[in-house]
Amino acid sequence: MKTPGKIFVVTLLTSLAFAADFEATQPAEFAHCIPADAKVTKIAGGFGFTEGPTWIKDGGHLVFSDIPRDEIRKWTAAGAVTTFRAPSRNTNGNTTDPEGRLISCEHSGRRVARLEKDGTLRTLVDSFEGRKLNSPNDVVVKSDGTVWFTDPEYGLKTDPATKKKVGKEQPGNFVYRHDPRTGSTTAIARDFDQPNGLAFSPDERKLYVADSGKPRHIRVLEIAADGTVSGGAVLCTLDKGAPDGIRVDATGRVWTSSGDGVQIFGADGKLIGRILLPEAAANLCFGGADGRTLFMTARTSLYAVPTVVTGASR
Ligand code: MG
Repeated sequence: MKTPGKIFVVTLLTSLAFAADFEATQPAEFAHCIPADAKVTKIAGGFGFTEGPTWIKDGGHLVFSDIPRDEIRKWTAAGAVTTFRAPSRNTNGNTTDPEGRLISCEHSGRRVARLEKDGTLRTLVDSFEGRKLNSPNDVVVKSDGTVWFTDPEYGLKTDPATKKKVGKEQPGNFVYRHDPRTGSTTAIARDFDQPNGLAFSPDERKLYVADSGKPRHIRVLEIAADGTVSGGAVLCTLDKGAPDGIRVDATGRVWTSSGDGVQIFGADGKLIGRILLPEAAANLCFGGADGRTLFMTARTSLYAVPTVVTGASR
């Protein structure tokens, strides 16, 4: 009689462990992020390496990148996954501009490109000061239409003999602002190791930038009314993996991909809680019909979880 009882207890504990999709460091604050009855769902799988999720409001669907398979994929609420663009020149990060046009960072294309409404793909930026970009990684567009992106060296091949990146022309790995109206490109930060995900605060006075290189932290840059950038203090450092893609919610919390899934930080830099995934996440975005679904690209899979809060508008 004792044995079945033990089996029951073990089974119960195992199922509880599987249900533990979250870890709330600040429970009251976490309750404003994720509904109490929420569960993480794997909504698609079998990919190479997923990245760059962005919700397309006009179409009511998600696009995301499969970098090694050289495709941008499309996911609909009905659960269908189709090819959106292939080859994608190993597109990584994606976003939309205020006009709803898809803007993509191409690793092997070494450019930031915009999909026009007529279906043509136009180069926005592929060089800075006469040298090719490294491998643009992630991008966000301010409400004034300026395009801010990071350019680490992950997409360049490494020479096995010298350990150096092949074909690297830039003297560093910079964060850029590009103005499509004038065509001008400015390096706004040159002191990152591997700048990666980036996101504006809701009032667009701050730009958060993840450094997924040696520091594994997120820094905050201050944006003045005239567009000049200063500051760069560390907001938070991750304890599991490196910050890759990041998003800010409508109230200013910073949601970052991490080695254990997604970690949520307050604007004060304190950890609020975690969304735990079975695979390390590389990026995330808010979306869904009401803007209250968080989509997470994590290695071979795409996951989703309902949220209380929506994302910041840009
Ligand atoms: Mg990235």
